[in-house]
Amino acid sequence: MENFTNKGIRNLAIIAHVDHGKTTLVDALLKQGQVFRANQAVGELIMDTNPLERERGITILAKNTAVHYRGVKINIIDTPGHADFSGEVERVMNMADGCLLLVDAVDGPMPQTRYVLQQALQRNVTPMVVINKIDRPEARIAEVVGLVQDLFLELATLPEQLDFPILYASARQGYAVTDPGSLSPDEGPGNGVQDMQPLFEAILEVIPPPAGDPEGPLQLLVAALDYDNYLGQIAIGRVFRGNIHFREPVAVIGRDQEPRPGNLENVFVFKGLERLEAPEAQIGDIVAVSGLSDVSIGDTIAAQDCPEALPAIEIDEPTVQMTFGVNTSPFMGREGARCTSRMLRERLSRELRTNVSLRVEETASADEFLVSGRGELHLSILVETMRREDYEFQVSKPEPVTRVIDGRVYEPYEQLTIHTREEYIGALSESLSNRLAQLTDMDNDGAGNVRLEYLIPTRGLIGFRSFFLRTTRGNGVNSSRFIEYQPMKGEVKSSFTKSLIASEPGVAVTYGLLNAQGRGSTFVESGAPVYEGMIVGMHPKEDDIVVNVCKEKKLTNMRSSTADVAKRLSPSVKMSLEEALDFIAADELVEVTPQNFRLRKKELSAGIRQRHRHRDRRREAAGAV
Ligand code: GDP
Repeated sequence: MENFTNKGIRNLAIIAHVDHGKTTLVDALLKQGQVFRANQAVGELIMDTNPLERERGITILAKNTAVHYRGVKINIIDTPGHADFSGEVERVMNMADGCLLLVDAVDGPMPQTRYVLQQALQRNVTPMVVINKIDRPEARIAEVVGLVQDLFLELATLPEQLDFPILYASARQGYAVTDPGSLSPDEGPGNGVQDMQPLFEAILEVIPPPAGDPEGPLQLLVAALDYDNYLGQIAIGRVFRGNIHFREPVAVIGRDQEPRPGNLENVFVFKGLERLEAPEAQIGDIVAVSGLSDVSIGDTIAAQDCPEALPAIEIDEPTVQMTFGVNTSPFMGREGARCTSRMLRERLSRELRTNVSLRVEETASADEFLVSGRGELHLSILVETMRREDYEFQVSKPEPVTRVIDGRVYEPYEQLTIHTREEYIGALSESLSNRLAQLTDMDNDGAGNVRLEYLIPTRGLIGFRSFFLRTTRGNGVNSSRFIEYQPMKGEVKSSFTKSLIASEPGVAVTYGLLNAQGRGSTFVESGAPVYEGMIVGMHPKEDDIVVNVCKEKKLTNMRSSTADVAKRLSPSVKMSLEEALDFIAADELVEVTPQNFRLRKKELSAGIRQRHRHRDRRREAAGAV
């Protein structure tokens, strides 16, 4: 039975740039695949429902859906649209036999999806393409098809991969066709003649059904984890050999290759967006199973009497770390409901259950945890998520995870790939050289689009993302992946901005802010409460400056009215979380609450900071002798 294929199943990964219509397409498929319950409205069934992901144009958590068509179950695997989550892409592609690249008929293929498509093709996943939004009047179908073909010519690893079918769709109007010329004006968009049937048919025809040995002992590769308060840990993955049964005794084989016995509880299969309990599931299907408490991504769940592991999935090691601590500012507890050390610890350990590349370590202080992740974005998304869940805490500047090997300090290096317009090369190269990046490859398509590749220490990448977005004004993408550890060398040249620090607590007033603006720019509005040691602005000198933003104008000075002063005040600088994390120095923190980010010195008292500085200078001088 080695050559068995399970014709009742297709496993399809969807690759799409954000806004190209993935959600709308899946909705249309679900609707026409008749799994809508009567009380569910079209458009209600979205796959990527995490608002944070949508805001940032990325999907992080891969979710599963299944649609049924002509007796075949099509498992739809969502893929992350951002290469910062490269580890996830590789994991979820493991479950797929086919991939559907969804491309907007106006925008054409976008660089963000390139990496995901490349991963799919390297894994020999069978591709197909849907050009979506053909109903848009600006649709430039022929050109977009040309761009898609160029992309495949560049990325295909086998000649067959160039034979992909192309369908043309309006996901919003619920139809797909194999030939866009077939749409005559009166039977086309909107009149209900067409539907998604051509796409369903193409999926069944082109995407190979899962193959394997249905009679062999069970093997399932865990590709994702979930947690349910009632069922505990849930492992999601594809059955690669045999069948899987409710309450089956199994062995879990992890990285150490040692099989550990366990008992499966429930087996769930996907239907629509729901998980349904099933007595068993067959080879090739994607299932969720409960009952195993200690599973990790990449583990094999195998028959207990034949514990053979599948090739493990590599998980990226964390490269960036920062501390998460209890908020110690004078405003502690004012804005967030969850602010104790116990709540912070509990939340972080909960995150570990499903966030695979995250590490959390205790520190010398019970109120502070060292959290490491795959990159600045990985960690800042956690910060954002917790903030929205009403947590209040403080975080330090992200730093690379270093290693000491033979007495030398090594740091992580990454390959950075940039796609942008050539007019931005100058500004980017200058910043990158300050960040210790070396250009390793570059090409230009002759039409002003460039691809640049760099080798850069993770240290230099911190803060680069927000600089990149600002500099290219959205006309570009960058992605990076860990390559290796190299000995630490050189210093990243920072942008030489230092902090303006509040000298006393109170409420910021226009006059005080105007004075501070004589030194640099300010971060707080008039009327905002401040505390001693809070960072209220920045300036381009080499040392921090202490300012009193709460200082009112002396009453004797009648020359200019308050209204005049207010007119001269420049608007405050608003930083994103990433910008704030990039801006702060090692002796500073970001205070995160559901409503605000505040920047502060670790040591709030100016007097104590001064004493520490003297002490450090003395030590330096002593060391230098
Ligand atoms: P996703 O980010 O890829 O999941 O994209 P969505 O499905 O949320 O769609 C993004 C936007 O494009 C929404 O405003 C949709 O209504 C719109 N959209 C999706 N498909 C089509 C289509 O076929 N035609 C047109 N005109 N708009 C579409």
